[in-house]
Amino acid sequence: MRKAVFPGSFDPITLGHINIIERALPLFDEIIIAIGVNAAKNYMWPLDERIAKIKAAFSGNSKIKVTSYQGLTADFCKAEEAQWILRGLRNTADFSYEQTIAQANEKVNGIESLFLICSPEYAYISSSIVRDLARNGGDYSLLVPNNMK
Ligand code: ADP
Repeated sequence: MRKAVFPGSFDPITLGHINIIERALPLFDEIIIAIGVNAAKNYMWPLDERIAKIKAAFSGNSKIKVTSYQGLTADFCKAEEAQWILRGLRNTADFSYEQTIAQANEKVNGIESLFLICSPEYAYISSSIVRDLARNGGDYSLLVPNNMK
C-alpha cells in the first residue's frame, strides 16, 4: 500500500494545499493529511475547526484521511507505516526550507519526501495571507475551498 503523509499546520487549508493533494492522489493509495500540533505555536483556527475544514473539502474521498499528531513527522510516518512525506513547493524559499529537512529525514529515518510544484495560479496563496486577511476583515474567499466561504 502506497501511503503518504501530507504534514502541515493548515491554519487554514487553502486552494494551494488542495492543488497539491489532488495532483498527488493518483500516485498513492492513501494520503494522510496530518496537522502537526506544536504547543508553543499560536494558531488562528482551533485544531478541531482545521480538521473539520479539511474533512469537508475532501468528503467522500476514501483515499484521504485527516488527523493530527505531535512530535516528529518522521515518527508519525513510521507509526502510520507511511513511506513518503508529501510537500508542496511554491518558490525557491520553500525549496531552501524543505531541502535540509528532507535530506535529514532520508538519512536519519529512511523516509522519502516527494515534492510537487504548485500550479502557477496558486503560487501566491499561503495560509499566512489568509490569516492576515481574516484578521483585518478582508475577503479571502477566493483563496480557500468552497466550504469555508
Ligand atoms: P507548514 O507550517 O508545515 O509550512 P503549511 O500548512 O503552511 O504548513 O503548508 C503545508 C504544505 O503545503 C507545505 O509543503 C507548503 O509548502 C505547502 N503549501 C502551502 N501553500 C501552498 C501553495 N499555495 N501551493 C503549493 N503548496 C503549498
